[in-house]
Amino acid sequence: MSLQDQVAIVTGASRGIGRAVALDLARQGASVLINYQRNAAAAEEVVAHIREAGGDAVAHCADVSDEAAVASIFETTLSRWGRLDILVSNAGATVDAPLMRLKPEQWHHVIETDLTSVFLCCRAALPAMRSRKYGRIITMGSLAGLAGNVGQTSYAAAKAGLVGFTRALAREVAAEGITANVVAPGYIDTDFVDNISPAIREWAINIIAMRRFGTTDEVAAAVSFLASPRASYITGHVLTLDGGWVMP
Ligand code: NDP
Repeated sequence: MSLQDQVAIVTGASRGIGRAVALDLARQGASVLINYQRNAAAAEEVVAHIREAGGDAVAHCADVSDEAAVASIFETTLSRWGRLDILVSNAGATVDAPLMRLKPEQWHHVIETDLTSVFLCCRAALPAMRSRKYGRIITMGSLAGLAGNVGQTSYAAAKAGLVGFTRALAREVAAEGITANVVAPGYIDTDFVDNISPAIREWAINIIAMRRFGTTDEVAAAVSFLASPRASYITGHVLTLDGGWVMP
């Protein structure tokens, strides 16, 4: 129980990677705010799961691209638990389209959901972390932000931007006991990759050294390590999790 008495916020925790991360942090003793946007029932199911196992969690609906809604996530956390140790800025979305068919409103939606959200959440997290001189910030990048991906110019731009953002933040807060790192998964089996065509799926499997997509639990294990006190000398790092797809 390395996270006993700690408090975590996980954005986009009703499904997929965020859900697995929230459950893993709770298993290690953290109390967790389960942020979601649309799937209230799924978020409440995550909360019930954590409480049945003896942990503490609360679901909170908020669009992470909206400043006032983000503020409400942190108000709820601090009024319930009085502290914040871990922020996992995970919520994200994509609108896949070749550049010439990508509409400006789709571009803005992806940038706001995947990048502006990280700015808003990290900025809101800092006062509570600074006051206790401790914090673990993990932002959810993507291999698309490092290597690019066809049909994902907006998504790749947001995820690449998040890397620069996290590294700059890591430098700003390093002397205050706060670390900031990026986890950058390749293909992970969630709703997010459900609409990939069989042809693309086959192509991807063939270039991944492990010949399979990753699982949400595999991402959660990496996030939990970076979120733990044991990762005290790791900051500004980008941890790729891609089964050996892209190796420098
Ligand atoms: P899912 O589509 O399975 O889940 C997305 C989660 O984000 C849901 O909980 C959803 O909430 C929430 N969400 C979406 N938009 C918002 C918003 N505006 N405000 C608050 N919550 C929101 O995605 P994954 O679990 O697969 O992806 C999670 C993260 O991992 C994303 O940042 C994604 O870019 C990244 N990633 C995923 C990869 C993959 O292969 N799956 C690969 C690389 C990176 P609700 O259910 O309520 O709508």
